[in-house]
Amino acid sequence: MHAEIIAIGSELTSGAKLDTNSQWLSQRLAEHGLVVRAHHTVADDIEELVRLLRSAAERSSLVLITGGLGPTLDDLTRQMMADMAGVDLEINEAALAHLQHLFSRRNITMPERNKVQALFPVGSKVVHNPIGTAPGIWMKADFPPHADIVALPGVPAEMKRMFVEEVLPHLPQGKRLIRHARVNCFGRGESTMEELLGELTARGRDPEVGITVHEATITLRINTSGETPEECEIKIQQTKELITTQLGYLVFGEEDQELEHIVVDLLNERHQTFATLELGTGGALANRIHDYMESPRCFAGGLIYPDMQRALTGLNNLGTESFSENPSLIEVAKAARDLMETDYLLAVSDWDRDMIESDDMVPDVSIVLIADGKEVEKNFTLGGDPGIYKGRVSKAILNQLRL
Ligand code: ATP
Ligand code: MG
Repeated sequence: MHAEIIAIGSELTSGAKLDTNSQWLSQRLAEHGLVVRAHHTVADDIEELVRLLRSAAERSSLVLITGGLGPTLDDLTRQMMADMAGVDLEINEAALAHLQHLFSRRNITMPERNKVQALFPVGSKVVHNPIGTAPGIWMKADFPPHADIVALPGVPAEMKRMFVEEVLPHLPQGKRLIRHARVNCFGRGESTMEELLGELTARGRDPEVGITVHEATITLRINTSGETPEECEIKIQQTKELITTQLGYLVFGEEDQELEHIVVDLLNERHQTFATLELGTGGALANRIHDYMESPRCFAGGLIYPDMQRALTGLNNLGTESFSENPSLIEVAKAARDLMETDYLLAVSDWDRDMIESDDMVPDVSIVLIADGKEVEKNFTLGGDPGIYKGRVSKAILNQLRL
């Protein structure tokens, strides 16, 4: 069974908005075993839309449409479906009552124009919208292969909810299901990871394992297909175990998990606390932790200074005894830990920003972790894209908390 997706809207073809609906729908359909053979992105032009819908419905057994279901004149999806089928639009009383109810609940008289959202092509069905005003439309083509044509609103949140709740359960399942999983790692570059994984990343292997990098986090994407969800699950589990055997402590999480999630959860669980002292990262480290709002109870706060000199002045002003002549980052980090009264203190040095401008020099950075009876200092060179230095350094130091 093949599917096609039609994304409607001049804001998409003009380049003002990116069609993310088709991407999301294709992924869900693939998981369900349905193959998407084409994405179409089309402007609000009724003749072109009708032609396209007709040809898609002649080729494929499922046509998903998103967008163009609103009440304004440029919302053409209803008309397109009716014209293609050669039928009229008629008011659906239940849908109209529902619309009126939505408006009266907000104490607004329904604008006359909104009535068009209760118009449906004769012979079609209403797809309930639990979170917005625009209901969807489900129609069956009266010519082979008798395609199911389903129109959903363009607003991504509405489209997704309706697809999952109202559409997917009624679609036949394809023969082969596709499943994905992600394993996240940190601490080595892409090519080293690939070497360590050996045969696991060979092309044509099932499951297939691909490597991507985002701000120094290495994600291993596992893809497989099978006839049942259980079959896929077993293959994915086996591959995850092989990965962990090969990479050991380099693996830190799965799916959307980042280092800050793992570290915050770990310290919360142990009822431990930490604070940060940032020179080179300007708060990027603290920001990363702050953005993980689950429960950063373990995070006592962060000190940010533009360079070592101002860190010394700042810490002195906060009551720290005087430092030695040329204090090391470790000495300053210890003072910061005493001040913050935490179990751990993570510190990042500054780096030579002028070097970033030069072609043949790369700056060095130090990261330090201080705990009772424990001092870790690591130095490394910041090669590659300067745009990711802050992210990479923040993660490198968070990673120390995990080890
Ligand atoms: P509405 O009742 O909101 O008018 P609609 O079905 O008419 O719903 P559109 O007007 O086409 O939908 O789009 C509504 C919003 O959803 C817009 O912000 C638009 O940018 C966004 N949107 C529409 N289509 C897509 C798409 N394919 N991918 C991502 N966003 C989209
Ligand atoms: Mg609209």
